[in-house]
This record gives sequence, C-alpha cells and structure tokens, in this order.
Amino acid sequence: MDTPTDTPTDAPTETIIGIDLGTTNSAVAYMKDGESVIVPNMEGDALTPSVVAFAEDDRRWVGRIAKTQAVANPRRTIFSIKRRMGSTRTAREELLDVVSSIKRRMGTENVVTVGNRTYTPVEISAMILEKLKADTEAYLGKTIKRAVITVPAYFNDSQRRATREAGAVAGLEVVRLVNEPTAASLAYGLDIEKVHSILVWDLGGGTFDVSVLELGDGVFEVKAVNGNTKLGGDDYDQRLVEMLIERFRDEWDVDLNQDATAKRMTRQLAEQAKMRLTDDAETRVVLPAYLSEGRRCALTVTRDAFEQITADITERMVAPAECALSDAGIDPIALDRVVLVGGMTRVPAVRALVKRITGIDPYGHIDPDKVVALGAAIQAGVLAGQVHNVTLVDVTPLSLGIETKGELFTRIIHRNTPIPTTKSKLFTNAEDDQTVVEIHVLQGERELAPDNVTLDKFYLHDVEPQPRGEARLEVWFDIDANGMVHVSAVDLQQDTVKRIRIEAACQPPADVVERMLAQSQEKMESDQRKRQEIEAGIRGENLILATEKLVGDMGETPDEKVRQAAEAAEHGTAQVRDAMADGRLERITSANETLEAQVKKLDLAIKAAAAPIMAQEPVA
Ligand code: AMP
Repeated sequence: MDTPTDTPTDAPTETIIGIDLGTTNSAVAYMKDGESVIVPNMEGDALTPSVVAFAEDDRRWVGRIAKTQAVANPRRTIFSIKRRMGSTRTAREELLDVVSSIKRRMGTENVVTVGNRTYTPVEISAMILEKLKADTEAYLGKTIKRAVITVPAYFNDSQRRATREAGAVAGLEVVRLVNEPTAASLAYGLDIEKVHSILVWDLGGGTFDVSVLELGDGVFEVKAVNGNTKLGGDDYDQRLVEMLIERFRDEWDVDLNQDATAKRMTRQLAEQAKMRLTDDAETRVVLPAYLSEGRRCALTVTRDAFEQITADITERMVAPAECALSDAGIDPIALDRVVLVGGMTRVPAVRALVKRITGIDPYGHIDPDKVVALGAAIQAGVLAGQVHNVTLVDVTPLSLGIETKGELFTRIIHRNTPIPTTKSKLFTNAEDDQTVVEIHVLQGERELAPDNVTLDKFYLHDVEPQPRGEARLEVWFDIDANGMVHVSAVDLQQDTVKRIRIEAACQPPADVVERMLAQSQEKMESDQRKRQEIEAGIRGENLILATEKLVGDMGETPDEKVRQAAEAAEHGTAQVRDAMADGRLERITSANETLEAQVKKLDLAIKAAAAPIMAQEPVA
C-alpha cells in the first residue's frame, strides 16, 4: 500500500521537482516533455554550491557568491552543512535521553555560530533549499510547492527527518525522500535495460556511498548499502593542502598557514589543482600575489604525486564496496553495470579502483554531478503521475528489534530488508502475572541489547495477568517508504486490542551505523557465544520451573516408577543449577539436555500411572 503522499492531489499540471541536496553542491531537475532536465540557477549554473554566507549586516548569500566570498569571509561562511544534519549523538548519549532531549529542544545541540547568532543545520539547509526553489520558480515561471529530495542511503531517521524539516522551512512539501544511488539508477533508465545487478559508486565532496541494486520487471531493489560518511573530495583536497603548505614553505619560504584567509585560499588552490589533474598529468599551482608578497611563486604537482599522497584514501573505499557486494550475495563477476555518481568519480584513480574491484568499465556518461537530481526528477514524475512503471525499493541499513529476557537483542526486521516493510513477532511474559511490559526498541547488529542503539522505549500497560510464558504479545515493526520506523505492541488476549504506536525518536548517527557494522563483524564469535550462554541459562531456568511445576502438581504418589523419575528430575534440576552457577556453556547445555530427557521420562511415567488399564480402540 502506498503512503498518501504517493497520490498527487493537485492538478496534473503541477510540477514536482527533484532536488539533490548535496554536501558540496546541490541541483534541481524536472520532467520536461517526458525527459528529466536540469534547472539552471539564477547564475546560469547547473550546480549550486551548498554554501551559505552571512554579511556583518545580516545580509546573506547562498551558492556561488557565498563560495567565492568565502576567502574574504571565512568565519561567516558555512560549508558542508549536510554532514551535520540530524542527530549527532553517540549510542552512549542516547541513554542520556532526557538531558539531550531538553538540550535538543532548547536548540543548543549541533548548531553553527555566526557572529552572535546561532543556526541549526535545518535552518542552513532550508536557506539552500529556498534559493533552489526561488531560482526554479523564476526559471519555470510558476510556484513550486512540492519536491522529491534525495538523501544518502546511510541517512538515519533523524537525518531524514531533518531533511524533511528543512524542506518545510523553505516552503516545500517533501513528497518523498529517495536514496541517492536509487535516483542515479533511475536516471540511467536501467529499468528498461536488460540488466540484473548494478553497483552504484558515489563519491562526492564529503561522503562515499556504495550500493548494490537488483532489477527485475522494472523494480529496483537495493540489496545492500555501505559506505563512509566521512570520506570524500574534501579529504583529497586536505592532502593536497598539506602538500602545498609543505612545498611552498620549503621551496618558496611562504607560510600558507598564516591565517584563516590564507588557509581558505590554499584549499581553493588545492581543489582546482585536483580538478585539473583529472585531465592533465601535471599542473602548475601559482600563488596569488596576496600570499606571495608580490613574488611569482609557483610549483608543479603531478598526477602521480597526487595519487601517491591520496592512495590510502582511495584504498579506504575497498572494504565498504566489498562488504556491500558480499552483503548482497553478489560476486563482482555477476555485476552487469557499475554507475558512477559524484564529482569525485571523475578522478582517474577512483575510476581505476572501481574497475579493479568490479572488473567492468563503469557507466559515467551522464554527468556524475547531475545524475542524482535527474533521477529525483523521474521519481517526482512518478509521483505526479507523469512517469509510469517504476517502483522503488530501498533497504534498511541495520536490523531492528527489541530487548528480550537476559538483555538479548531479538531482531524483528533484519538488515537489508527491502522497505517499506511490516513485520511482527510473538512474545510472551517473562514473569508470572506481569501487567506491564517494557518494549525497548533497538537498532543494530550486536547480539546483546546494551551493545545496540536505543531508538525508543515504551510500556504496554494493563496486560492480562498470566503465568509466565502464557501471555501472547505481538510486536509490530513498520518502516515506511521514507525509512521512518513505527512500532506497535498488542496484547492478543485482551478483548480490545491495545495498540501503541510510536515513531522512532532518533536513530544512530551514520558513523555509528558504520562502526556498528564493523564491530558486529569483529565481535561476531564472542557475541554469538554470549548469546548461546544466555539462551542456555534461560532454557535451564524454564526447565527447572517446568520440573518443579510437574513435581508439585503430582503430589504424593504410590507409583514407584513415578517416584524414581521425579527423584531423577529433581537431581537433574540441581545439576542445571550447578552448571548455571559455573557458567560454562557446554556444561549448561549438557545439564539441560539431561534434565529435558528426565522431565520427558517423568511426564511419561505420570501419564502411564494415570492411564486406564485397557487401551481404548482408537477413534477413526
Ligand atoms: P559532489 O559532492 O558530488 O558535488 O562532488 C563534489 C566533489 O567532486 C568535490 O570534492 C569536487 O572537488 C570534486 N570534483 C568535481 N569535479 C571534479 C573533477 N573534474 N575532477 C576531480 N574532482 C572533481
């Protein structure tokens, strides 16, 4: 079932635009005569730098002007705000929920300060969106109310929420958030090509995303996503900056580190040199007069040198790419297409790496800076009813579930499940006559609840009192098409179904997602052993309770066999208790197995003692 926003209610002539709200640059596209095309901004450019600058007198600039004046106004210019969207709290801080939620409400968390004013990332992003909206309206000559905005595949709930909010502040209803790699695949029209599996390699200014998609009958399914939210062109620029500082100091005795303006200018020189090295084997870097005290200071940087000083950054993309492929269960040899996204995929060393890993020449004929916006416009066209036969399926990057007895994490939706999705699981009461059940909603890949991230906690009250293990509680997880999580819990034994619906207040920051995946790999063995130990302990407890109940219900018995079986089972419970105190998994498992057999024997003996003397004819 689609969400209500999937059905446009306005007149068919309404244009829904597609926006790629990028870390470095943003772009807008729309459907024109069945084609997705870029909307140029007021300056006539396809790309608008995602940069906001403030003058002393409160005037502000967005885009190219903001970027070019940055050298002269570094303290009042904001770059890469996308990196700060949403919650930046760590897993540990999630536990200090009360404090941080108060801080959040007061707006003291994660703000940027310009002069004596502070701005939230949502406000800054909204300023960028406002410009994109205004420029589009001027170009198309009509009011734009709705948009599809793309987000990195790794964006968590709070980052997605913040993006929507930024749209709303800018006066745009965000009808759909689409993962960037999904949008890129749409732009390439791979749904009509006879391809099956695609890898999307997206290296922008600030983030690296790699996604594996599968196609079938015009349906895109994102099989796996991986990446690194702190890896991009900025890191390459930084290496060149360091090299320029060192070489200009050694060769020309110039200090490029002298002040903020010099640093900013050096960064621009580095980025421009990096871009020239995409086409040329070497390039000259000439200092502006301001930095060189009137001398003509210049030096040559070769592509080889650039590749050498950035080789480790390039190599950092290997592990996420291989991880995405293995998560998707796809051998690189089975890939049909590789799609390049992001300005940095023009860099020859990056292309060479993609070829080395996948063995195929990547698709890059659509400008990698525009391909995401072009795809977003196609999705907008689908929502506006202009484009048909395309369905998008994304996946959840981490598993979702709840805490169960023994601090175990029980998964309800597994990682890489296509969304939207709804899944439920039955649970029971851990204690006799329990009337309140805590539902601790978690996200992560570790086996124990405390090692994962808390999304929310809520209580199901007025549960029908029942002996331990008798209650029937169903917990539903629902992830909508925008990646938002809703959880409900139902007591199935009540006449009236109680349903509590929450929306996940926050999800782990993207870097926590990455760390968690790495940790879950690293700790897989010890985690699984811990889980088995806890499960064996719970099994032991249940067996002891069952034995005690059986023996208690039995009362005094004259039957010798039953008495012997009961004695053996009681001895067995003592063995399980000893094993549990000792804590060794093998001992608990073996004691459990013995007790289980003894309980079965006792049960049979009780039944045999109570059975009628003559067997009855079986009823047909
Ligand atoms: P994006 O975030 O996709 O807009 O990518 C921007 C990044 O791509 C920045 O780091 C740019 O410096 C880089 N970039 C853009 N064009 C080129 C080029 N021709 N060669 C190398 N890097 C480029």
